[in-house]
Amino acid sequence: MHAPVIIIGAGPAGCSTSLFLSQQKIKHVILEQSEFPRDKICGDALSGKVVEVLKKYDEGIIHRMASDPTHFLGSWGVKFVAPNGKALDIPFKQNISAEPHAPGFISRRMHFDQFLVNQLDLEYAQLITKASVVSIERNESINQVVYEKDGSTISITCDIIVGCDGDRSVVEKHFVNRPVAPLHYCAGIRAYYKNVSDLHPQNFIELHFLDELLPGYFWIFPLGDGTCNVGAGMLSASVSARKVNLREQMLKAIAQNPNIKDRFANASLEGKIQGWGLPLGSKKRSISGQGYLLCGDAASLIDPFTGEGIGNALYSGYFAAQAIQKAIEAKDYSADYFALHYDRPVYERLWGELKLSHTLQKLSKYENLFNFVVNRAHKSETLRNTISCMFEDLDLRAQFRNPVFWWKMLIGK
Ligand SMILES: Cc1cc2nc3c(=O)[nH]c(=O)nc-3n(C[C@H](O)[C@H](O)[C@H](O)COP(=O)(O)OP(=O)(O)OC[C@H]3O[C@@H](n4cnc5c(N)ncnc54)[C@H](O)[C@@H]3O)c2cc1C
Repeated sequence: MHAPVIIIGAGPAGCSTSLFLSQQKIKHVILEQSEFPRDKICGDALSGKVVEVLKKYDEGIIHRMASDPTHFLGSWGVKFVAPNGKALDIPFKQNISAEPHAPGFISRRMHFDQFLVNQLDLEYAQLITKASVVSIERNESINQVVYEKDGSTISITCDIIVGCDGDRSVVEKHFVNRPVAPLHYCAGIRAYYKNVSDLHPQNFIELHFLDELLPGYFWIFPLGDGTCNVGAGMLSASVSARKVNLREQMLKAIAQNPNIKDRFANASLEGKIQGWGLPLGSKKRSISGQGYLLCGDAASLIDPFTGEGIGNALYSGYFAAQAIQKAIEAKDYSADYFALHYDRPVYERLWGELKLSHTLQKLSKYENLFNFVVNRAHKSETLRNTISCMFEDLDLRAQFRNPVFWWKMLIGK
């Protein structure tokens, strides 16, 4: 069997690539090792960027999400809690009543990923589940993909492989095989808890920057089914240097932290606490080559400050489909062609944010600086509004790198 394009992995990156390829009427095969619905260890927060990319495909998708609050809880803002325990509520939008739907959502990946798979256009996409890719070979100009399904080993050839198979990607391993860089990689754990109290009425997500987890944070994200996604993440280099046990730290915060423990007094753990890695986009990498492209976590595109990767996975799928359409037209699957038509637009869209978030991640390890900013923001409505606007305006966010911004804050302006 030969397919022009094979996508490996049907998570957000794979589904996005498929949806936008279908829009261009390009037939493709998707190989996915799991069967849906399937879980993915995640904080389950869908940022404004997720909404932005899905709208490029079909505005109706967001309305379908917004009309199902049990599975897609609309979130209107974020609560930052500084290491000194002071909290700062920052709405994502200034004028809520003018908005047709919430700027972001929280949805279990069990539901969200199934929802995305349901949107696939089967006229162009052939989804093969329970198909685990075990090896890739490149002979002359053809890729050969070998996968196992139901005890059989099957081989397909293709012109272009799109690696959307997440962290520990087989595609990345075959073509690049970069070692894990602890300064650009984060460890994360997550659990589901029932009956957590005192959640924000507008479903703000909560990031608690506890000093024992810097640079990183403990989170509580409310879900529409009465549970919360609770977890902790920290830069891997710091986990090793300080010998942090994330699970112990998370349970300690729940049992002992004065801001957190009372809220868990009647809460109970549902299922297990599970961990997975977050390949961060704090370093520019080559994300394509002769006959292949990498998207989402396989391309290491997670925001280094917030830990959000779903929006960037969707964006990379969007750009991958555009690059593939051009490459098929030009009959050019070379590394240079993809570097120009894939790597370049991906980084043009995402690098500004990734670089800034890397700066914020580095600043966030200074506990006193964090406390200072939150204390100042408590006193100044202008500063609170500025931070709120930063969610919508990247130029404003860039002020964090501007010494004048810090000087004004220092003198209380
Ligand atoms: C603890 C934690 C919390 C996080 N919280 C958030 C958050 O709140 N918000 C956010 O935006 N991001 C969050 N992220 C990041 C987010 O989960 C990822 O960035 C996102 O899932 C990337 O999507 P993807 O499609 O690239 O990869 P994945 O979602 O990992 O999908 C990869 C797919 O490939 C399949 N696959 C893998 N190997 C093979 C193979 N050999 N053959 C066939 N199929 C294969 C897998 O089964 C899977 O379906 C978090 C991550 C972690 C670990």
